[in-house]
Amino acid sequence: MTLEGTNTYIYGADPCVVIDPGVEDAGHLGRVRAAAAARGGIGTVLVTHSHGDHISGADRLGAPVVQPGDGEVHGGLTARATPGHAADHVVFLAADGVCFSGDLVLGLGSTIVPPGGNALAAFMDSLALLQAEDLALICPGHGPWITDPAAKLAEYVEHRQMRERRLVDSLDAGERSRAALLAAVWDDVPPELLPMAAMAMEAHLEKLEGEGRLPADLRP
Ligand SMILES: [Zn+2]
Repeated sequence: MTLEGTNTYIYGADPCVVIDPGVEDAGHLGRVRAAAAARGGIGTVLVTHSHGDHISGADRLGAPVVQPGDGEVHGGLTARATPGHAADHVVFLAADGVCFSGDLVLGLGSTIVPPGGNALAAFMDSLALLQAEDLALICPGHGPWITDPAAKLAEYVEHRQMRERRLVDSLDAGERSRAALLAAVWDDVPPELLPMAAMAMEAHLEKLEGEGRLPADLRP
C-alpha cells in the first residue's frame, strides 16, 4: 500500500548511487537523472526489495540495477538482509549512521508484514538488527525522515508485541474463533482496514505456531 509516493535517494558522488528509483514516471526519472548527473553520474542503482513501487523505473536509468546480498558494499553503503515486509528486503547503512530503510520502517504509520514464510518472526529479527546499529537517521521508502531512530524502532517493536500479547491473552482465555480474535485484538481498526488487520493476525498466528504457542483447534 502506497500512502504517498516512494522516496528515491541519491547518495555519494563520482559516481553516485540511486536507491529505490521508484515507479516508471518520466518526470520523476528525469529529475533523478538530472540530480545524478550533477553528482558525476550513476554508478549503481540499488533496490531495497522487489515491489513495483520501488523498482519499476530501475531499468530506465542506464546503470546496473543491483539488489545486494547481506554484507555487500556498493558506493559506500553496506547492505543488510532485513526480511519481513518482503523476503528479499535489504536496508543500506552508511558509515555516518544513516540507514536507507526501504519499507522495513516507514516515516508514517506501520509497515505491512504479510503472512507466509514466518515473515513476522523475520521482521522482528530485522528490527533488532537495526536496534543494534548506532543509527542517527532513518531515510524510509515512504514518508518523512526519522530523526529519532531508537524511538521509532522501539515503537515498531512495541506495537507488534502489544498485538501479540493481546492475541495470546485472548487465546489463553479460551477464544478459538479467528473472527472473534480479530474483533478483540484489532478493536481500534476502522472497518475498511479489517482485511489488512486479518492479514496481520495471520502473520501473528504463524509466528506463534512457529514458536509452538498456537492451539491446534483454531476456527475460522
Ligand atoms: Zn514494498
